[in-house]
Amino acid sequence: MTTISKFKGKIRDNPLVALERGNRDVMLNIWREYLNELLELNAKSGRRQLLINRIEQAGDFDALYRDWNDLDTPERAERWLALIRTAKAQWQEVEDLCLRCGECCERGSPTLMIADLHLFENDTLHMTEVYTLRRGEKGASPRTGEVVTMTEERLKLKEHSGTKHCLYYATDPNRCLIYDQRPEQCRQQLCNRSSDERPPADSGYLTREVIFGQHEELWELIAAHEQRCSIDRLEAALRDLAEDKAADSKALFDMLHFDHYLRQMLLQEWELPPGALDFLLGRPMSQVIRQFGLRAQMTPEGVFRLENMP
Ligand code: SF4
Ligand code: SF4
Repeated sequence: MTTISKFKGKIRDNPLVALERGNRDVMLNIWREYLNELLELNAKSGRRQLLINRIEQAGDFDALYRDWNDLDTPERAERWLALIRTAKAQWQEVEDLCLRCGECCERGSPTLMIADLHLFENDTLHMTEVYTLRRGEKGASPRTGEVVTMTEERLKLKEHSGTKHCLYYATDPNRCLIYDQRPEQCRQQLCNRSSDERPPADSGYLTREVIFGQHEELWELIAAHEQRCSIDRLEAALRDLAEDKAADSKALFDMLHFDHYLRQMLLQEWELPPGALDFLLGRPMSQVIRQFGLRAQMTPEGVFRLENMP
């Protein structure tokens, strides 16, 4: 629409008076003010724009805008009130619905719940599309961006490389590629409500043990890796290194090498796809160690060298 001058009148008390006298641009300003009050959503919110499109389509707003200057006073009042009724009805209809704007999908991927287990069983999710954040690792909250330390293990869908976009999020047009099968956390997400108002998830968090606990050989291997390469052990080894306990720093290098060569073994002997390792064993120790300000690099001799990160 063309640029309009900002309507300065007070609209809350009796917009009909202003509407009777005003041209279509006045009406448009009052309409926008009304939508701001009704929707109470951030002006940049994609959900807000989808809601506005939906309301304006249902209320045939374009026709009202086009006709406005030629309408007499009773017609203006009648059509305006009909528009308001439509807006309220549409708003109530979708208040608790996801409009698939994709905003939450761009902020991060979901953490998986036990209720999502069937998504592996029905082939919606695959091992290469999930990663594990182990206890003690740091991860960013998708809603607040705040970096938190995991108090328990969490499984998450991967994200598109270099972005926070969920792996299953596609753009142009924005959409979830598995919407009918989307994980529990995406279903629970009512973006127009605070976290206190959201319904509690009806199941606990999914863990590797829930998925692989029955596969004896694989679970033993995961458990052995966890025991030897836990973040607690890593922190203890780093403390020892900082205190220059030379003998104990061996534990740190043992950990890095065990993690590295176990991954190689899973690739070469078990022929697992590389993308599955972040799920089975969590992120490589050489990556995790960065959260402690260190970089671990494999030398051509096949041993790790540590250096401080810039
Ligand atoms: S739940 Fe997510 S995709 Fe759905 S409307 Fe809210 S922000 Fe958009
Ligand atoms: S699974 Fe679908 S709905 Fe959930 S964050 Fe990813 S793209 Fe969005």
